[in-house]
Amino acid sequence: MSISKYSTFAVIGGDKRQLYTAKSIADDGYCVTIGGFDSVSLNNSLKNEDPATAALNSSIIILPLPAVKNGNILNAPFSDEFIYFDDRLIKAVAGKKIFCGMKNKLLSAVPALDKDLVYDYLEREELAVQNAVATAEGALEIAMRQYDGTVNHSRCLVCGYGRIGKVLSQMLKGLGADVTVSARKKSDLAWISLSGYRAIHTDDLKEYSGFDLIFNTIPSMIFDSVVLAHTAVDAIVIDLASLPGGVDFAAARRLGITAFQALSLPGKAAPKTAGEIIKNTIYNMLEEDNR
Ligand code: NAP
Repeated sequence: MSISKYSTFAVIGGDKRQLYTAKSIADDGYCVTIGGFDSVSLNNSLKNEDPATAALNSSIIILPLPAVKNGNILNAPFSDEFIYFDDRLIKAVAGKKIFCGMKNKLLSAVPALDKDLVYDYLEREELAVQNAVATAEGALEIAMRQYDGTVNHSRCLVCGYGRIGKVLSQMLKGLGADVTVSARKKSDLAWISLSGYRAIHTDDLKEYSGFDLIFNTIPSMIFDSVVLAHTAVDAIVIDLASLPGGVDFAAARRLGITAFQALSLPGKAAPKTAGEIIKNTIYNMLEEDNR
């Protein structure tokens, strides 16, 4: 790995995921200082400082996803106080590589940052693919908790055959579910059939019903009132698509269908793995940058 052995990391703000990112980097032998975690008790050897001191001590800065919320307030749920991305913090990170999620949001909230030194790990394909596993497991956990039957032998519909759709269908099949998958591309429909699932076109969803569990991964309004009207009233709908999502929740309520908006599952279902995925992605980006 071509990361300088003199690299020092500051992990500033974020939730359990970022703590695991920090721990995993420290386990690799690097010096890591965390900042913005004053309300959490740590049972490990991470150095805990205020954010500006953590940044001053380090050559590489890792921020959460998103890095800021409500203007220039750092996304730091484990801090007792609001942490502003103020002049002191800007000076402390100056000239250093900053890794974050949703970098455009950070750059518009803190325009003084050098945009050429801000890197977005959320834009990386390897992170999205690996997060699909944690997301699918999180979706299964919700399904198992909410559905009164077993997933085994249940009739499942997965809408969308992208990263999450592929992983989730495979997991459901592995659990013995009867899996139907929807897609719009002919090539996806062919792969769906070849993988042993029933393939249906997403435009035709309203022609199919009788599912026990429905997982939507399509980031578009797929389960509108018309499609929901053809959905079994005792089906459980789990919407995994990022906001605004793909389910009309008001219509679901009116129709008596149980529907869940299940967001940010990697951080909730598997913060350790999610943190390690962030670390590995940052290592990949550093390695490519050093070539
Ligand atoms: P992806 O690989 O891009 O897959 C999206 C799927 O939706 C593809 O099959 C795509 O089909 C289909 N699709 C997109 N727009 C469509 C439309 N208007 N009509 C019909 N089909 C459409 O995305 P992903 O990585 O699986 O992620 C899916 C969603 O989950 C995204 O919104 C992502 O941000 C979100 N996400 C959620 C969590 C969570 O915790 N809930 C975690 C990670 C990601 P084509 O290939 O034909 O375009």
